[in-house]
Amino acid sequence: MPPQQLIRPFHGLRQTATRYLTGHRPAAAQTRALHLAPPFLLEDYTPRYMNISSRDAAMKRSAAYAHLRNCNLCPRLCGVNRYETTGMCLIGEKAKVNVIAPHFGEEPCVQGHHGSGSVFFSMCNLRCVFCQNHDIAHQRNGMDLTPEELGDWFIKLQEVGNVHNINLITPEHVVPQVALSILHARDNGLRIPIIYNTSAYDSLASLELLDGLVDIYLPDFKVWETTTSKRLLKADDYAATARESIKAMHAQVGDLCFTGDGIAKSGLLVRHLVMPGFEAEGAEIMRFLASEVSRDCFVNIMEQYRPDAYVGRTKRGSSGDEKRYPDINRAVSTQEISAVRKAAEQAGLWRFCDPPKHDGFNL
Ligand code: SF4
Repeated sequence: MPPQQLIRPFHGLRQTATRYLTGHRPAAAQTRALHLAPPFLLEDYTPRYMNISSRDAAMKRSAAYAHLRNCNLCPRLCGVNRYETTGMCLIGEKAKVNVIAPHFGEEPCVQGHHGSGSVFFSMCNLRCVFCQNHDIAHQRNGMDLTPEELGDWFIKLQEVGNVHNINLITPEHVVPQVALSILHARDNGLRIPIIYNTSAYDSLASLELLDGLVDIYLPDFKVWETTTSKRLLKADDYAATARESIKAMHAQVGDLCFTGDGIAKSGLLVRHLVMPGFEAEGAEIMRFLASEVSRDCFVNIMEQYRPDAYVGRTKRGSSGDEKRYPDINRAVSTQEISAVRKAAEQAGLWRFCDPPKHDGFNL
């Protein structure tokens, strides 16, 4: 990172954080070799859920139960009582969890040395035809957990796994259960940050319930055009919803910040999986992030797309050779990845999740 970027102006920083500013660094910070950008460095960090008053916690609990009784919490707006039945997500009052474990497949600043305490929820409120987690997100496998049982797992991940954070993966359809579990875990000793790892198909009501409970928002922004989201995600309003959701997430937590050990503690980290043939939509997403969220937005432009789920399956009723979604039945090319990256840089984004050019973390 060029030196001038280390002192560039910054926006949207959290009031609660103490930062090292140029010319005012303590001696210990001067000896660091992590190449941290000072505006995004926290001296210390306390998870946001620790600062919630008991009155606000009680209000969040009652809001969570109310949402479960009449669930319009995600953009699918099913309006069902989840104690009696299920809506489109097919999950009732208890969250179904496929895997809970320390995980090392995340960004270096999220997984650190001990792993991210990942909780993979079964099912999803989207129906991406190319889903990269198809076995988890489209199949109802796993264990049903009450919010209290789920919160106890968070404690176990912290105490036994020694993980850096609790990473809630595909949680859009279990937000009430997640809110209740965080409050339960807080009352029982949880002290590490919470990551909300989402497709960004969230409602503003859902994000309001999470405000004060989540430290890092980690949304995907998948596609830009309505026609594309309708065909590939089975949600006409995906891009419009993601735009509003990501802006609301950033308003809550600001840009991504780290402590001196290189671990992300608060803020927004946006992922974009480059799709074959959709680099123009990726470029639109980058321009949106730079102009309407923050030029200091931390972005992971991912290149690991592989055909999965329904992509490349034989069409029902066809003679055998006709495949579904043939246009995305291939890996992405280097040119497509470069086009999205170039658009991001031209838009003014500069904080990317790249392999480090030094011996520290890639911050
Ligand atoms: S969370 Fe599930 S039940 Fe509630 S609105 Fe979304 S899809 Fe429907």
